[in-house]
Amino acid sequence: SYRKGGYHAVRIADSFAAGRFIAQRKLGWGQFSTVWLAYDTQTSKYVALKIQKSAPEFVQAAVHEIEILSMITENDPKNEKCVVQLVDHFKHRGPNGQHLCMVLEFLGDSILHLIRFNRYKGINLNKIREICRCILTGLDYLHRELHILHTDLKPENILLVSTVNPSKDPIKSQTPPILERPEGSLTGGAAINVIEKKLKQRARQAVAKIAADRRGGAPEPKPERCLDGIDFRCKIVDLGNACCADKAVAEEIQTRQYRAPEVILQSGYSFPVDMWSFACTAFELATGEMMFAPKPGPGFSEDEDHLALMMELLGKMPRKIAIGGGRSKDYFDRHGDLKRIRRLKYSSLSRLLIDKFKFPETDAREFAEFLNPILDFDPEKRPTAQQCLQHPWLHQTPAKTTV
Ligand code: ADP
Ligand code: MG
Repeated sequence: SYRKGGYHAVRIADSFAAGRFIAQRKLGWGQFSTVWLAYDTQTSKYVALKIQKSAPEFVQAAVHEIEILSMITENDPKNEKCVVQLVDHFKHRGPNGQHLCMVLEFLGDSILHLIRFNRYKGINLNKIREICRCILTGLDYLHRELHILHTDLKPENILLVSTVNPSKDPIKSQTPPILERPEGSLTGGAAINVIEKKLKQRARQAVAKIAADRRGGAPEPKPERCLDGIDFRCKIVDLGNACCADKAVAEEIQTRQYRAPEVILQSGYSFPVDMWSFACTAFELATGEMMFAPKPGPGFSEDEDHLALMMELLGKMPRKIAIGGGRSKDYFDRHGDLKRIRRLKYSSLSRLLIDKFKFPETDAREFAEFLNPILDFDPEKRPTAQQCLQHPWLHQTPAKTTV
């Protein structure tokens, strides 16, 4: 993809915007862009530089993303709404064409990293409450204040924010990245990286201790990764697929596993699609596994498997909803039963949490009570982000939670 119309190849220490930004290291990439950590010589801060591919359709998409990001930033002057902010944008000419570049505030690793870091075992419910509050604050802002649908909410698109006090920032004592830089502290993502390094160090220490304690022959257990005492805040990123609610025209939205039933059935959609993805994300944080991972099988499609998995966990889809979409006839008969997957194994969210993920019963029941309404097959019955923020589950601190 590093050819005409494609990505712009960046080398460390390359400069952008007439020398204002200096590239430090690659942070990530997506279908449309590469994202680099860059040093802003004007403000002495680190930023994330999102450099879009240069073909016209990517430029078009970037123009749209910049519009949305500008709206998000202008209406949140205190930067407290848990959505990524745009610092600036500019054009950059390179051998592959002209690239639109977005300068974003620099954030940390995604919560997908967090799930992996925790070895897919599920994260402590109190931490999940904190993360959920942030995501819902962001969604409430996008939905209610700006009338924007994100349409691609998933763990990858939720990035951690450092809560390390900048004045006590541990990175100050770290080696400065690559280039000479003026005085200034590194916050955001880099601080998260420091936390991660500490965690890895603790894990290594635990291994050493276990090895020392070991009595002949027993297999060496993996050390617990300790996330204690780390306060999680996060922000919603990647507004590349976001759209205004009254201009939502794309038929196929959302990443497969986080896709709402009304999108599969083509029944029309709005804000509740993000709520569905939110519930799938919260489940994944708590269990380490995707809530729905559909696969095509003999005689049925991925879509049909997806609908079957939803019903097995959430109950039978009301007939009116099942047969009400533009694509309903492809999957459902007139009684509202799936045409090609006949015998469903019904369970429930709380049963799954108890049986498969070994949640204590109270935790399972309470978490399921929080999630189930957000997974209503009827999008109009799903609570809004604002309503979810009021839910008692987000505000309780139980004496005992799952680890
Ligand atoms: P795309 O629209 O091409 O998918 P994203 O906006 O999702 O691009 O960014 C791609 C990746 O770059 C993200 O998954 C993340 O790892 C990293 N990234 C994006 N924005 C930031 C940011 N503000 N701070 C730190 N890393 C970021
Ligand atoms: Mg992305």
